[in-house]
Amino acid sequence: MGLIVQKFGGTSVGSIDRILNVAGRVKEEIDKGNQVVVVVSAMGKTTDQLVNMAKELSPQPNKREMDMLLTTGEQVTISLLSIALNQNGLEAISYTGWQAGIVTEPVHANARIAKIDTNAISQQLVSGKVVVVAGFQGITEDGEITTLGRGGSDTTAVALAAALKADRCDIYTDVTGVFTTDPRYIKNARKLLSISYDEMLELANLGAGVLHPRAVEFAKNYQVRLEVRSSMEKEEGTVIEGEATMEQNLVVRGVAFEDEITKVTVLGLTNSLTSLSTIFTTLAKNHINVDIIIQSTTEAGTANLSFSIHTDDWLETLNVLEDNKEVLGYEQLDAENKLAKVSIVGSGMVSNPGVAAKMFQILADNNIQVKMVSTSEIKVSAVVEEKHMLKAVEVLHDAFELASVE
Ligand code: ASP
Ligand code: MG
Repeated sequence: MGLIVQKFGGTSVGSIDRILNVAGRVKEEIDKGNQVVVVVSAMGKTTDQLVNMAKELSPQPNKREMDMLLTTGEQVTISLLSIALNQNGLEAISYTGWQAGIVTEPVHANARIAKIDTNAISQQLVSGKVVVVAGFQGITEDGEITTLGRGGSDTTAVALAAALKADRCDIYTDVTGVFTTDPRYIKNARKLLSISYDEMLELANLGAGVLHPRAVEFAKNYQVRLEVRSSMEKEEGTVIEGEATMEQNLVVRGVAFEDEITKVTVLGLTNSLTSLSTIFTTLAKNHINVDIIIQSTTEAGTANLSFSIHTDDWLETLNVLEDNKEVLGYEQLDAENKLAKVSIVGSGMVSNPGVAAKMFQILADNNIQVKMVSTSEIKVSAVVEEKHMLKAVEVLHDAFELASVE
């Protein structure tokens, strides 16, 4: 007998029919003789709808009240699913995050899990019940309700799997697994049978929406075996584990992409020693996320700085830089909008020099200009014009033979 944590996302529990389908998937695991903990998201677009209602009342609603509001979404799903399971002849009990013992740091809207007291869940499992837990929520030591950040139900599931020492954590979603690239845009994208934690972490951080990056980080740290699979289709999904066990000969495993990127350039920084830290400290204080950073010095002894941000943050970035012009001491600001980031990811890159060179060659052959570059041990990202994004993905996906290998 094993212990399985199953997680079902918003689309998978988006209607009464879908909830019935989920009850069926839970029953399959029970019938195999397993103990099951189920983690669910809010139904369909419920969380977005709740956010929109609050925004109608206030442009910046109080974060504590937002947590209070958003956690209701998951609470609807846990009770409905438990009712469906009971009706299916299974004994089930629903738990909110706090009933499940999920304690977080005292931060609203984006709290990290501090510890999990699994006693209550374990007792229910021993008595033969299916435990249905609300994803995305927890409680502080002081009894305040918190949420884990958008998409955080994945993290709840993985954290519970780690705390309960579950044999597996299955993430059921509306796609059949992790693909070499987004199959909605690239026709010959292929489902990967397995992928390593590190590769998945890069892909998740680079905008592949299948898994919450923090969930992957958690899985890696606690060596939780994850599987991403479809809640509708009965086919094998993608296993995420320490080392990808199959297809190890492939240097590049996936191509990720993201649009709406703006490149900001600050010209003529007079004091390059301190201005760099001042700029990024100022932006960080204003919660502006900076991605790629490039600095160069000029012959005149000044420095030019370029960095990329999400286009949504552009006006705020402009305001912050202009408001601090005197402290920062620069001559001119420039921005280029309508950019995108295309990245290749694969653990094999560590031991294969020349992967970046090949990437730039392929982009050049296709007349795609690279505006910025960043690398890690297992990824190379290039910023290109948004209009070239999908073409870049397609030619890289082909050149690194991602579609052809079974
Ligand atoms: N319901 C939350 C959201 O939409 C959490 C989740 O689904 O993972 O972000
Ligand atoms: Mg999700």
